Amino acid sequence: MNTPDHVLVVGASAGGLATVEALRRKGYAGQVTVLGAESHLPYDRPPLSKQILSGSWEPERARLRPPSALSALDAEFVLGDPATGLEVSARAVRTASGRVLSADAVVVATGLRPRTLPGQTGLAGVHMLRTLDDALALRMDLLSGTRLVVVGDGVLGAEIAATARGMGVPVALAGPQPAPLALQLGQPAAGLLAELHAEHGVELRLGAAVSGLTERHGRVTGVRLETGEVLPADVVVVAFGAAPATEWLAGSGLELADGLVCDSRCRAAEAIYAVGDMARWHHETLDRSLRLENRTNATEQAITVAGNILGEDRPYTPIPYFWTDQFDAKIHVHGMPSPDAEVSIVEGAVAERRFVAVYRRDGQAVGVLGWNMPKQARQHRAELATTPLLAGSA
Ligand SMILES: Cc1cc2nc3c(=O)[nH]c(=O)nc-3n(C[C@H](O)[C@H](O)[C@H](O)COP(=O)(O)OP(=O)(O)OC[C@H]3O[C@@H](n4cnc5c(N)ncnc54)[C@H](O)[C@@H]3O)c2cc1C
Repeated sequence: MNTPDHVLVVGASAGGLATVEALRRKGYAGQVTVLGAESHLPYDRPPLSKQILSGSWEPERARLRPPSALSALDAEFVLGDPATGLEVSARAVRTASGRVLSADAVVVATGLRPRTLPGQTGLAGVHMLRTLDDALALRMDLLSGTRLVVVGDGVLGAEIAATARGMGVPVALAGPQPAPLALQLGQPAAGLLAELHAEHGVELRLGAAVSGLTERHGRVTGVRLETGEVLPADVVVVAFGAAPATEWLAGSGLELADGLVCDSRCRAAEAIYAVGDMARWHHETLDRSLRLENRTNATEQAITVAGNILGEDRPYTPIPYFWTDQFDAKIHVHGMPSPDAEVSIVEGAVAERRFVAVYRRDGQAVGVLGWNMPKQARQHRAELATTPLLAGSA
């Protein structure tokens, strides 16, 4: 394909902005338009459940770039106007306000939409946490010091519980796993995480799925577990997963299957690409379809996509990586650890709460976890690149 005259990026956040920056760094001088559903300039999401929720940062600090750096990109930002449809052959995007934006190449980077519990819509005191506005609204409710129940024992739920405890809020964490992140990290990391939360006063109500909410006069009063027990709550955060924000692509003819399905170049159709949390692409070295929900992936995938738009024709083959901060634990995870892998502690000690764990399957390293040892974990990451599972990955 020739270099496009005009690139349209749908989604004005981590992945979308990184695509534009990479295009410009690689020397692209054509027209760029960025369409975003939210009215805010691009901001970062990881601080939302940490510094923004706790109040240690003013909202402006979450901005990905100052306005001057955005201007220097020479891109048109069309904000507060969600895309509602895509005509693939014309690469034309319709928006909620009735605009039609067409371009020679389209990059889709619309992220995720949180899953909801039945009956939560419109109920006062019930929150989700995906956007800056969500974080500020949740913070306002927590400032009154009421009892919070977090629905969701994954990374986001556990982070919210930790931050809310740091604010002095009484917190219960509910979810089906035996410990937070148990299905992702297995032992000993998930057990230690449970210990950490319990020590800081989080009431762990794990091992039972949440079936719904209770309410009185339109305000939430509790979270019902599948056992029938109700956990009393003044405020509830529903953080039990999210789905790719692809509903606006329904009817476009593009393949949607838990994400926008792409080839190894992150291309969904001729001159249409996907980046970030909503992109499902074929990882060539793993030889499987993958979708990653983490911050580093949004940037790295954007760089590959920008190159491919400009004709580089490179597959995207990352070693997955994410981090999470909870209380005083800084946890860094490389590769694909799993609870059924064999885990060995290769540096530090679990009891000291500073360690590196390597996860092996059939003797091959598949994941590395650093607990308050980011540098050392990064060093062990090198082992992943030599296993057949991840060999050849960047
Ligand atoms: C609270 C929170 C904490 C996190 N913490 C961590 C962490 O500690 N470590 C880590 O690795 N990752 C973390 N993540 C994940 C990380 O932030 C995401 O992986 C990253 O933001 C993905 O970037 P993205 O551009 O793909 O999607 P997003 O950042 O979600 O951006 C998508 C953008 O598209 C917009 N959009 C949606 N639909 C439309 C539409 N129809 N038209 C136009 N625009 C649309 C959205 O409004 C949004 O601005 C966290 C996420 C959240 C929500």
